[in-house]
Amino acid sequence: MKNTDKTSRRQFLSGSAAAAAAACVSRDASAQDADYVIDPPNIVSMEIDGSDERFPVRRVFCLGRNYRAHAYESGDDPDVNPPFFFIKPRDAITDSREGHPYPSVTRALRYEGELVVALQSGGTNIDPADALDHVYAYGVGLDMTRQDLQQEAQRLSRPWAISKSFDNSAPCGPLYPVETNGHAVTGRIWLSVNGEVKQDSDLSFQIWSVSEGIAILSRHYELKAGDIIMTGTPEGIGLVETGDVVRVGIDGLGEIEVNIT
Ligand code: MN
Repeated sequence: MKNTDKTSRRQFLSGSAAAAAAACVSRDASAQDADYVIDPPNIVSMEIDGSDERFPVRRVFCLGRNYRAHAYESGDDPDVNPPFFFIKPRDAITDSREGHPYPSVTRALRYEGELVVALQSGGTNIDPADALDHVYAYGVGLDMTRQDLQQEAQRLSRPWAISKSFDNSAPCGPLYPVETNGHAVTGRIWLSVNGEVKQDSDLSFQIWSVSEGIAILSRHYELKAGDIIMTGTPEGIGLVETGDVVRVGIDGLGEIEVNIT
């Protein structure tokens, strides 16, 4: 490092700016009062059933091929390949009542009805026996997928991002707190399109239960409060068109209705 570089770095660090601004990157909540050159991103939050308070979303993790019959219909063998994770941006989550705008670029939009898990705490290497203690609430959601782009990505061994993590790709309903509703470990999960049932399974058929999913995910990431896990879809996936009405329900967690617009 040249002397002039040292001098300018010293001047930068000892400047009169707030401590948060001295760091190259700040992830400190106290920096929320800093002067920003653009408006900071909005907090994404979810409705909580029976409450005026809301659940702020940190990250959205998704499980792939977490039901045996869906793994088979996807051309996979769940005895050879275990489920896996991918991520959506937090603002992929939308209010299911606002409908789902048919996304750009794709010509094959797929529904996947899923159980949504919201974490109130986290950690690393979480013991499966303790994992459910980290769950704040459960809900119903859709993992919308640009199927044609996913198939192209699979063919070319490329990431799934543009097929799974696009804008508005996770319409969700309200969250149902464990405190009042208990844990959603078993129960029917179903999805219909224009009144015709397409998916009809049970949460107990998940390959990785919610507690196992949390434990395994926590080996790869430090989980934190606000993290969401979409726990995979059962068999019966298919395509929807503009004008279709998708309904997803889970025993004890109500139903959501999503208009494809
Ligand atoms: Mn999915």
